[in-house]
Parts: sequence; structure tokens; C-alpha cells
Amino acid sequence: MASSPTVLMRLVASAYSIAQKAGTIVRHVIAEGDLGIVEKTCATDLQTKADRLVQMSICSSLARKFPKLTIIGEEDLPPEDVDQELIEDGQWEEVLKQPCPSQYSAIKEEDLVVWVDPVDGTKEYTEGLLDNVTVLIGIAYEGKAIAGVINQPYYNYQAGPDAVLGRTIWAVLGLGAFGFQLKEVPAGKHIITTTRSHNSQLVTDCVAAMNPDDVLRVGGAGNKIIQLIEGKASAYVFASPGCKKWDTCAPEVILHAVGGKLTDIHGNALQYNKEVKHVNSAGVLATLRNYDYYASRVPESVKNVLVP
Ligand code: AMP
Ligand code: MG
Ligand code: MG
Repeated sequence: MASSPTVLMRLVASAYSIAQKAGTIVRHVIAEGDLGIVEKTCATDLQTKADRLVQMSICSSLARKFPKLTIIGEEDLPPEDVDQELIEDGQWEEVLKQPCPSQYSAIKEEDLVVWVDPVDGTKEYTEGLLDNVTVLIGIAYEGKAIAGVINQPYYNYQAGPDAVLGRTIWAVLGLGAFGFQLKEVPAGKHIITTTRSHNSQLVTDCVAAMNPDDVLRVGGAGNKIIQLIEGKASAYVFASPGCKKWDTCAPEVILHAVGGKLTDIHGNALQYNKEVKHVNSAGVLATLRNYDYYASRVPESVKNVLVP
């Protein structure tokens, strides 16, 4: 007789369905036409109605099913009753068909930390660069990112009316990554993806030091990891303290599950326990292959500024 799914696999299956629901909310807010934009710390640090509704949806849906989880969401929202319409109760069966890696089979609900970025790439969302937007649900155990779900609500939005709009990518370390076709940049090409709306001199200097063949400036941490796994870019380089744990947790797992590597710019692994500070103060360096090429080219001057 098949044993019942583990807590981790049930959580990933729920996160998948919840991320899909989040994608529909992101599209619905645009369709309604009122983004309800609020400036958080500055004009490039925004929150929209989609960020607020999706965070409420994800956090409340998870908390109802898994009351002992620690859930950390990006948005600072006043406590309020969440509309029943925002609650997603489903669990994606394809996830439950997969075996839980044995090292995670005894994990208890209270040992897991979930990092939620309800809308990653909000600045681009407000500017209509819709395929930059992702919804990120990352799952950590003992400080390590071990499972992640990414919904890309506007995947295919420029591919014509017959294309299926939106997709969900997910991964568990030791099991694999699903929902996309792994592709690599042609050998020998150094294509760097970095921020579009949070640039600085340090970011520019660090990218230039890597002598790239091309630089892609796009929004979203989730989107940039998708570029790495789909052969559009070979390295994600962000020499800035702007990214937070909810930006990197889910994307890191997807990348690691296919043999890539994400660290800070010194080469340190990122920590995701619940007590950790939220900012990735020493930046982000991520590659699918050839990590050492990029890591060896981070200038000392950049390392001296970005202290872990
Ligand atoms: P970007 O590559 O600019 O889209 O940034 C990736 C993620 O980090 C997004 O969620 C941004 O909102 C966040 N981020 C990066 N830099 C900053 C910053 N200077 N202030 C606020 N958020 C930032
Ligand atoms: Mg984000
Ligand atoms: Mg966000």
C-alpha cells in the first residue's frame, strides 16, 4: 500500500495550487485596471493591489492548512479578515505522485519556514512588462532552501491567442525541477542578466568586470533565474543589497535542483531560517554552469562594499 504523502510534499502540492490561484489574481487586477500603487521606501519600491491580495491569499491559504508553519511574506499588511474568495484549498496531484526525498521524509510542519514574494517584479508589472512578473513561494528547512514554486502569470502573453497563458515551475532538492524545459546558453557565451530598475554604479562595475558578451536588464529575481534555466542568460549578477530572502528562496531551489548555484557575491550560501535578516546584504551571484568563471571576476572593490 502506498504510504501517505509527507508534510513537505503536501506543502509543495498546496503551494503549487496556491501559486496558480495567485497568478489568476495578478491577471485579474490588471484586467480590472486599477493597480492601487503605493510607494514603499521610494519610487522604485512599489506595492500594488496585486501584491496585497496575493500575499493575503498565499499566507492565509497556507496558514489554514498548515497552522504550525512559519510564513514570512514581503508585504507589511494590517491584520484583517481575508475574503473567502482568496482562499485556495487545492493540492496539485502531480506533485503528490512524486516520492519525497528520504532526507526530508520526517520533517515536521513546525520545522519549515516559507518565504513569500507575492509579486516579484512589481515595478515592471506597473509598466506593462508582464512576463517579468513571478509569484514566489520558497520553503526552507534548517536554514536551507529545499523546495520552491514559481508561478509566471503572463508566460506566453505575447505568443498569440492560442498559447496557454501562465505556468508554474516547481522543484524539491533531491527530487528534481518540473514545469519547464532546461536549456543552456551556447558554450563560451557570457550573457549576464541583472536589474533593470534598481541599478547602481556598483552593479554596473561588477557586471563590466565579467567581460560579458551581452547584458540583459530585466525585472524580477524569479524572472532572472528562469532566464538561466532556459538558456537566455548564463549568470545573474546583482552587486547590491536590494534583494531579500523572499526574492531568492524559491528561485534558488529551482536552480540548485538542475545543478546550478546561487550564492552571495563572496560565494557564501544564503540562509533562510526564520531569525535571519531579510536583506541579502552581500548581493546575489547565480549561474547554471561555470560558476567559478563569474565568481573569480567579482572585483575586490565590490566585495569590500558588500559585507554579508
Ligand atoms: P530587480 O532585479 O531590480 O527586479 O530586483 C529583484 C528583486 O529585488 C525585486 O523584488 C526588487 O523589488 C528587489 N530589489 C532590488 N533592489 C532593490 C532596491 N534597491 N530596493 C527595493 N527592492 C529592491
Ligand atoms: Mg521580489
Ligand atoms: Mg514582491
